[in-house]
Amino acid sequence: TKWVYTFGDGKAEGEAGMRNLLGGKGANLAEMSNLGLPVPPGFTITTEVCTYFYDHGRSYPDDLSAQVEAALAHVGRLTGRTFGDPANPLLVSVRSGARASMPGMMDTVLNLGLNDTTVEALATAAGDERFAWDSYRRFITMYSNVVLDVGHHHFEEALEDYKERKGLHLDTELKAADWKHLVGRYKEIVEKELGRPFPQDPKEQLWGAIGAVFGSWMNNRAIKYRELHAIPASWGTAVNVQAMVFGNMGETSATGVAFTRNPSTGEKELYGEFLINAQGEDVVAGIRTPQDITERARKASGSDKPSMEKAMPEAYAELVRIYDLLERHYRDMQDLEFTVEKGKLWMLQTRGGKRTARAALKIAVDLANEGLISKEEAVTRVEPAALDQLLHPTIDPKAERKVLAVGLPASPGAASGEIVFSSDEAEEARKNGRKVILVRVETSPEDIHGMHAAEGILTTRGGMTSHAAVVARGMGKPCVSGAGTIRVDYAAGTLSVAGQVLRAGDVLTIDGTTGQVLLGRVKMLEPELSGEFATLMSWADGVRRMKVRANAETPLDARTARTFGAEGIGLCRTEHMFFEGDRIVAVREMILADDEKGRRAALAKLLPMQRKDFVELFTIMRGLPVTIRLLDPPLHEFLPHTDEEIAEVAAGLGASAEKLKARAAELHEFNPMLGFRGCRLAIAYPEIAEMQARAIFEAAVEVTNGTGEAVRPEIMVPLVMTRAELDQVKGRIDAMAAAVATETGSPLAYQVGTMIELPRAALRAGEIAESAEFFSFGTNDLTQTTLGISRDDAGSFLGAYTGKGILPADPFVTLDQEGVGELVKLAAERGKATRAGIKLGICGEHGGDPASIRFCESAGLDYVSCSPYRVPIARLAAAQAAL
Ligand code: ADP
Ligand code: MG
Ligand code: MG
Repeated sequence: TKWVYTFGDGKAEGEAGMRNLLGGKGANLAEMSNLGLPVPPGFTITTEVCTYFYDHGRSYPDDLSAQVEAALAHVGRLTGRTFGDPANPLLVSVRSGARASMPGMMDTVLNLGLNDTTVEALATAAGDERFAWDSYRRFITMYSNVVLDVGHHHFEEALEDYKERKGLHLDTELKAADWKHLVGRYKEIVEKELGRPFPQDPKEQLWGAIGAVFGSWMNNRAIKYRELHAIPASWGTAVNVQAMVFGNMGETSATGVAFTRNPSTGEKELYGEFLINAQGEDVVAGIRTPQDITERARKASGSDKPSMEKAMPEAYAELVRIYDLLERHYRDMQDLEFTVEKGKLWMLQTRGGKRTARAALKIAVDLANEGLISKEEAVTRVEPAALDQLLHPTIDPKAERKVLAVGLPASPGAASGEIVFSSDEAEEARKNGRKVILVRVETSPEDIHGMHAAEGILTTRGGMTSHAAVVARGMGKPCVSGAGTIRVDYAAGTLSVAGQVLRAGDVLTIDGTTGQVLLGRVKMLEPELSGEFATLMSWADGVRRMKVRANAETPLDARTARTFGAEGIGLCRTEHMFFEGDRIVAVREMILADDEKGRRAALAKLLPMQRKDFVELFTIMRGLPVTIRLLDPPLHEFLPHTDEEIAEVAAGLGASAEKLKARAAELHEFNPMLGFRGCRLAIAYPEIAEMQARAIFEAAVEVTNGTGEAVRPEIMVPLVMTRAELDQVKGRIDAMAAAVATETGSPLAYQVGTMIELPRAALRAGEIAESAEFFSFGTNDLTQTTLGISRDDAGSFLGAYTGKGILPADPFVTLDQEGVGELVKLAAERGKATRAGIKLGICGEHGGDPASIRFCESAGLDYVSCSPYRVPIARLAAAQAAL
């Protein structure tokens, strides 16, 4: 087997496509060599050796050492030196390199091959003693730390001691003799710590370093990182051994890192830093302040140190030539590492550069416009979830932050406003044109109006799927939940945190992207939806098959959804409308009514309000499809809970508090999620469904006649388990349609369909499709009922499940494709078998999750529906799924 691949001198045995075998670093070093770029020669020991190593009790294949010898000799020929030669030694670096760049792996060892003899040869060859001894002491420190496990601090203490005794302050003040003395000290330290001397034999040094790289594949840091990023342990790492070039050979030498485009803005400019007379990681180590690469950047930063462009014009020109070439070759922004040795530029690494969402967008669009990639490819270059960062105001990165507390980043974006402690106050303040942050211990459905009125929501209790978090995400409002160090005192109208007391009216800022709660108003940046964003979205729309709709019920949500490009409403939850303003009074009257007559009287009051809602929605959506779900939650949710509230509500209704209490007790359920809700309400109280159907149809006629654009409502019956249930409710809806058509003299076009959110409904989908004209997969409930996990109670144990790898992800965030997904596929197939053209969509939280959207594409759904702020994410994810 070939275990070793050489590179250097304009050619290589490997190339970029061999990433799995050579690791990312090795494959790209080979590619750069093939491109004729100045890469110090070297060789890569393959990832297969790593696999062999662990399969064979940490030993190497028999023929490895001969192949390494041969490769070393090859590198020696290219450099004119010999590894271990006392007079003309080849020095190398030993670098790890997995397929995916992976922190946690062994740090690089530089200057390997130095010992008490070769250091003298290096001094002679370079004509610089200080440089040689500085390199040697660096080598001893790195090697001891990384390979021999003798901590850095030993050497740092010795260095500090020495400087103090000699009255020196900076490392640069140390002369050759000083470093030479310290090398002696360092060797004593190693011998004392290990009980044996620092290895002088270069071969021993090399195999020690190779073993350390392979060994680091299984260290705790690496294992943890692989766990977090789902990288299989079987991949293994490669080892790169490469001839040294020296950035620490005086003022004409340097080391640096650069991006071919600005990684935070995406601007096309060489962006990076370098340090003169330095080696390896000195740039990122932060010991000295690095210098700018371009003159432009130096002027912008106001630095008084010369740029690379000024200080080393020739090496700079070469870097510019190479960066341009690499970008064209890889057709993506690159992250480069380089070293200049006595004025000559050497390339040490290239890889795709990490970038912010904003930069990713700009780079993808620019590369397509420059003709380097196709539009389709540009669409695949942006992570859909990352768009979230762009759709909300964000805190200016330059602004000062006074952090009061940190909670969970429950809903992205940032907002500032005066503190209010109740939803009514929030609404009142909003009417008076004030901006507020609603601060609650937790929120409930009664807070919807306050959440709407507020700029952002802060809770001290509750997780990422708490009511506040889910609703805020749906509304696209920033939310920090579970900020447990904050104490709220509703009675006093204060909150206390970190030794401070804030009152209602004081200003707070919340950052829903990081979970921070900040004192005062902080400067924000507004989202930018035109320019590159609009361009990339239009390209995405050009390639996707599935439609994207929004879950929306308020005019504001509907408008937001349209702004973000929604092609209809996939879920209008009518219960949200029932909490607004005076309606809750009529809803409660209906619930308290003794008989059908009483209920109908209360419903008659609701009808005009509900009709007005739909008129507004249909008008905003201008002929786009709107799916309206009939009342779904248990009635209990509409009743007051505390004695105080009960007394107040009873007085308002002219009913007795006892009666109200008794009715609330009657409606109490042990498991409301599986209780009296969904179409069960319409079965028991058909008049509710009838009122809703009438409101929908009358609104449809009104808007159709008013705008001339036909409105085709889709009425959706929730929580169906049998066809008979659907038939009962559908019968009432059809009758109402006929009645409204007769009354108004206008024909009506509409569809009746159902949510598939119970396993039984999925199984019986074939039969249900005989009545249902469309299915919408309600994957929140379908997940709860399939897994038997209550969404509201999952917080206490789900973490352990994902942590232990029992579940790959939170099934309420990313669809459980194997279980719930199986039911979705099966229902889709059975539904289509009965009714060929049946429309299929999804309206759970999963409709905005890229991985779940990919699944929806494969299951052949017609559309996904998600909260308005996730619409762009869904558009992009649907496009990527189609490619
Ligand atoms: P990482 O993966 O942590 O970036 P690298 O293996 O890329 O580690 O090494 C870090 C730095 O060490 C490089 O950026 C370069 O500055 C320096 N380095 C590595 N190999 C050599 C070499 N052969 N000659 C000079 N410098 C080197
Ligand atoms: Mg590197
Ligand atoms: Mg449901």
